[in-house]
Amino acid sequence: MSFDPSLEQSDPEMSALIRGETQRQFDKLRMIPSENYASRAVQEAMGSPLNNKYSEGYPRKRYYEGQQFVDPIEEMAQERIKSLFGVEHANVQPYSGSPANLAVLFAFCKPGDPIMGLGLPAGGHLTHGWSVSITGAYFNARAYGVRRDDHRIDMDEVAKIAEEHKPKVIFCGGTAYPRTWDFAAFSAIAKNVGAILVADIAHISGLVAGGAHPSPVGHADVISSTTHKTLRGPRGGMIMTRKELAPAIDKAVFPGLQGGPHVSQMAALAVAAKEANTESFKEYAARVVGNAKALATALTDRGYALVSGGTDNHLLLIDLTNKNVTGKRAAKALDLAGIELNYNSVPFDPRKPFDPSGVRLGTPAITSRGLRPEHMGKVAEWFDEAVKNEGNEAKLAAVASDVKAFLRDYPAPGIAL
Ligand SMILES: *Cc1c(COP(=O)(O)O)cnc(C)c1O
Repeated sequence: MSFDPSLEQSDPEMSALIRGETQRQFDKLRMIPSENYASRAVQEAMGSPLNNKYSEGYPRKRYYEGQQFVDPIEEMAQERIKSLFGVEHANVQPYSGSPANLAVLFAFCKPGDPIMGLGLPAGGHLTHGWSVSITGAYFNARAYGVRRDDHRIDMDEVAKIAEEHKPKVIFCGGTAYPRTWDFAAFSAIAKNVGAILVADIAHISGLVAGGAHPSPVGHADVISSTTHKTLRGPRGGMIMTRKELAPAIDKAVFPGLQGGPHVSQMAALAVAAKEANTESFKEYAARVVGNAKALATALTDRGYALVSGGTDNHLLLIDLTNKNVTGKRAAKALDLAGIELNYNSVPFDPRKPFDPSGVRLGTPAITSRGLRPEHMGKVAEWFDEAVKNEGNEAKLAAVASDVKAFLRDYPAPGIAL
């Protein structure tokens, strides 16, 4: 094909959908805590002819020719991640966070082996052994939880279950846990029972890189993560570890679980790691947390019940029971009002996961647009308006147009309209 049309020329229908989504990302307060805005530089690396290359294997040990540029690309991603987090080894090939966790289990466990993780209803991730996940179906998983009174992880319970269950692998980390992880305490428990401790920092890797959450390095044997959440890189995953565990991890990723790595993703990760190794990213990470704390205060002042009473990181979990609206109805209303988040179970939720009592929201994306703690009162006011006017479409549309007008002054990284 000599004529190589643009997307707009070749597929106007798809082009229009992508333009619509791009505009939507610009017009809304995007508060799903696992989402962000990747920079233009990261997106350029993702959308390059690197997409065309097969590179099974690792740098200088490939099964395909033509790796003159791919080898230095992957090595650059490895080296930058190692220096950003201060680790001995980084595998940058996992396609995403879930395959990264599966690779860790494949590296250290046989089917049926005991494993442990924070339960999904308490804020854990599916891939830490929850029943509907392959990690729950193929391994003998037990979940630990949070305390009823303060919604903090009960380290005594973790120790007790670990002693009974003798897990090969203990996961710490989650998707809906608003508090600091005590990696040292998990490490002591794991050592005591001879388990491999895996810190899954998917949500908080940007905060760890920027010094706004304690690092698991030196405590966890293995650190898994996504690269697209607070770290603001490409969709992808990575696994960090010590030298002596590196061969097991590398073998589990390739050839254990995956074929050819996505070279564009590894290049984009290298770009994101360079961006994250700066003073301005440190400020970003601190501001993500500052914004979340300011928002927590503003919402508490408006009578919202925050799970655990507040936040130490980038996310808030709100129990809406006292507001007489379910999580799902509130999330729908908020979306119509230009505030995008997700409905979420709260610990000990009496309602079902498909229509739970709470919502989960966070500040990574809005902080990337330059919002500051002084804006969080306004965000809380819009939030409250939307929840109070659930079902009133005219009112919700009015809030959405205020939100949109406000956001015009806050450029979104990676979005040119
Ligand atoms: C998001 C997340 C994952 C999974 O990442 P995907 O890229 O969606 O597969 C794994 N673990 C935790 C803790 C997460 O938050």
